[in-house]
Amino acid sequence: MTAAAESTVTFHSRFARELPELAVPWQAEEAPGPEILVLNEQLAAGLGLDPQYLRSPDGVRLLVGNSVPAGASPVAQAYAGHQFGGYSPLLGDGRALLLGEVTDRTGRLMDIHLKGSGRTPFARAGDGRAVVGPMLREYLVSEAMHAMGIPTTRSLAVVATGRQVRREGMQPGAVLARVARSHLRVGSFQYARATEDMDLLKRLADHAISRHYPQAAEAPNPCLALFASVVAAQAGLVVRWMLAGFVHGVMNTDNMTVSGETIDYGPCAFLDAFNPAAVYSSIDVEGRYAYANQPVIAEWNLARLAEALLPLIDEDEEKAVASAVEVLGGFREQYSRAWTGGMKTKLGLAAENISDDAVSGVIDDAVAILKDGPVDYTLFFRNLGKAARGDMRPVRGMVRDAAGLDAWAGRWLALQPDAELMDSVNPAYIPRNHLVEEALAAGTEGDVAPLRRLLEAVTDPFTERAGLERYMEAAPEEFGSYTTFCGT
Ligand code: AMP
Ligand code: MG
Repeated sequence: MTAAAESTVTFHSRFARELPELAVPWQAEEAPGPEILVLNEQLAAGLGLDPQYLRSPDGVRLLVGNSVPAGASPVAQAYAGHQFGGYSPLLGDGRALLLGEVTDRTGRLMDIHLKGSGRTPFARAGDGRAVVGPMLREYLVSEAMHAMGIPTTRSLAVVATGRQVRREGMQPGAVLARVARSHLRVGSFQYARATEDMDLLKRLADHAISRHYPQAAEAPNPCLALFASVVAAQAGLVVRWMLAGFVHGVMNTDNMTVSGETIDYGPCAFLDAFNPAAVYSSIDVEGRYAYANQPVIAEWNLARLAEALLPLIDEDEEKAVASAVEVLGGFREQYSRAWTGGMKTKLGLAAENISDDAVSGVIDDAVAILKDGPVDYTLFFRNLGKAARGDMRPVRGMVRDAAGLDAWAGRWLALQPDAELMDSVNPAYIPRNHLVEEALAAGTEGDVAPLRRLLEAVTDPFTERAGLERYMEAAPEEFGSYTTFCGT
């Protein structure tokens, strides 16, 4: 078979056209020897991109931004953002480009974005590059998140550039091609607001409404409805992170989307032993983005979005603030309702005749058992599924206080948990930190076989398969205090 000669997909440049003030036309730097390390053929096909074409020399060049498809006009996006609480008025894509948008097979407009494609006018002191390890991490974790049903940017490919990049020592360079409903961030609105160009701010809001929340256009106050939609989307997103034991690691406002997709996987990790204070990022010394802080930080970030939107919500600032505060006030309630619902399902108790009130004690006490730890968060729930089928041994073997667990389980089992339901939401396979490190280390050395095997496990997370036992096991003890570095 011969590879298709060119991409048959039509690229659009709607963001660049509608919001030129936020889009700097730019070109990727030349990759001296691009080679695909991993290609998401299923995702490619869903976008109408022929995987065979993407593997051809021209296709590989497209994936690093060196061949610009017809209709695409690559841009670096401008945005601002609060990083660890401090405001930076100008961040923007320092090492990334929005190649353009394509319409996927389901009719949705999707961004195709390249990370590690060279310095842009927003690069500041950065080299504009990315290296293989962190790009493979983003690929792996984002695809695992997607497989668990958690809204996220997707990963299309990681291409090694053939260039050595200086980090701590030299590392092989790479470009990640990713796909998202959009790359609009809270920081995009902060940037637009700071320009004091109300027409720009309005166009940005209209763009976001049209792409993500078209029903908001019909509301009496579309911008307030946009804000309410983002609040709901983020409450729904962060609760899914919490239920999955995911720690994003760098929830700056420039890393929070308006669409409600998880974005920018840097120093992220899944909990091994349950610990509300878990922090994995080496630079998060104060634990601002610790596991248990994530809902509060999301709410804080949403307040920054509200501030940016105020002039569009009402001309009278006091009224605008009152409306925004009221909407943001709904975050906690939405979050706790979703938490209770999610935990109920994780415990197999979603039956409609079991009220939230009836199970809240059982949920709280399950969390108390986890806190009494050390208990591997993911395995605990998976093993509870076995307990629901009558085998208490696996979960009993995990806890410090077996008698306490038995007493709790008596109350829980009396509610007749549905083991199948539990297995459909409690993953057997997640990108466990020790497995991720193993796959990234091999990938950096040019061996992507461990990555592929791990991907196979985590992209079908709920079905236990023979031969994948080691992917379910908790981290070896010597892997105790895991840290990821922001030198991405
Ligand atoms: P992040 O924390 O990865 O979301 O990045 C924060 C900001 O730093 C964004 O504006 C990035 O584009 C920029 N940045 C990160 N790494 C680099 C790099 N190596 N070169 C240029 N800009 C970078
Ligand atoms: Mg970012």
